Amino acid sequence: RGKRAFIAGVADDNGYGWAIAKALASAGAEILLGTWVPALNIFETSLRRGKFDESRKLPNGSLMEITKVYPLDAVYDTPEDVPEDVKANKRYAGASNWTVKEVAESVKNDFGSIDILVHSLANGPEVTKPLLETSRRGYLAAISASSYSFVSLLQHFLPIMNPGGATVSLTYIASERTIPGYGGGMSSAKAALESDTMVLAFEAGRKGKIRVNTISAGPLGSRAAKAIGFIEKMIDYSYSNAPLQKELLADEVGSVAAFLASPLASAVTGSVVYVDNGLNTMGLAV
Ligand code: NAD
Repeated sequence: RGKRAFIAGVADDNGYGWAIAKALASAGAEILLGTWVPALNIFETSLRRGKFDESRKLPNGSLMEITKVYPLDAVYDTPEDVPEDVKANKRYAGASNWTVKEVAESVKNDFGSIDILVHSLANGPEVTKPLLETSRRGYLAAISASSYSFVSLLQHFLPIMNPGGATVSLTYIASERTIPGYGGGMSSAKAALESDTMVLAFEAGRKGKIRVNTISAGPLGSRAAKAIGFIEKMIDYSYSNAPLQKELLADEVGSVAAFLASPLASAVTGSVVYVDNGLNTMGLAV
């Protein structure tokens, strides 16, 4: 039987989530996506109109099939958590069952179980502010969207994950080294995500024989990264200073995610795996 993957955090064809979906599809997995509610309409319309057909092409020439796209807002666990103004917002009112608990229930009703859970989402409303100028609200929002969202997803999906399954999330080296400009508590959020990877690997390993790993990825000019404001500078810095002087392709992160989700990585859990052309190993820019 082929594996089934749920990938949270795909809303266009530029980011890591899309590349991971392609790598998993290429390895024979069935693809389910979780798309942020405010981005759902444009994503589905673009998909339907064939705007992504070129980037849906897999190495064997076929097009990636997306079995179903679920609306998701990973900062809300249950309908009771959703504030009135969000409920009333017309982008949200047009969709339903998009809290984490409801999405897991829908996937269960539609397909029964999954094998692979991917978390490829982050949000920090004050990311452009230095940590020293970040509000409590902004900091907690970054943690909620970028770290607790993974705890919540695993909490709700674990009961429908087949033993032997795996999860992968995306982190960034700003958790362990200072990256000026990656602000708003996003560096804190990535540190939490990495620590949680270790603790959840233990808990989900014991409870459901599920592996939990995270990929510390190098810079990519995704939509989310462009919002931070200095992604081109980071890409240039990486190109100049990394051991491997080449562009980092989203597909290279996709391949490692597919490896981590596969039986080839059956003894790998609780790990932070660097996919960054080796930049993390450098101690001096040359
Ligand atoms: P992206 O824009 O493709 O992905 C981020 C996604 O998160 C978007 O689809 C967005 O709609 C979604 N999202 C935001 N808030 C959400 C919410 N509350 N509920 C559900 N979805 C929500 O950008 P990306 O850079 O590929 O980001 C994917 C992951 O990779 C993130 O965790 C990011 O921190 C990480 N990462 C990115 C880089 C980089 O340079 N781009 C480097 C290291 C790690």
